[in-house]
Amino acid sequence: MNKFNCPYCNEKSVSFFRKLALSPIVSHNCNNCNEPICVPFKALLLILPSLLIILILPTFIDHYTVVIGLFIFDLILTSYFYNKYVPLIKAK
Ligand SMILES: [Zn+2]
Repeated sequence: MNKFNCPYCNEKSVSFFRKLALSPIVSHNCNNCNEPICVPFKALLLILPSLLIILILPTFIDHYTVVIGLFIFDLILTSYFYNKYVPLIKAK
């Protein structure tokens, strides 16, 4: 699985799933240098369309299997873009 570079020590110390769990208010200490890492507030803008789809979609589609399939597709797509375009930043 991909690892991402720490903004302090530049070592590949942040895993794909660890980065997904980060937010502007939830930081994680680097496994290598133990400094706090988080993501910028603009990362929330990437999650906003996904949340709107999850909240609005069930009102237009009656088949729950289609809605669940779209939820999973939405989750995978948002995770991909989050890991590709959201940078890791120093939390302090
Ligand atoms: Zn580090």
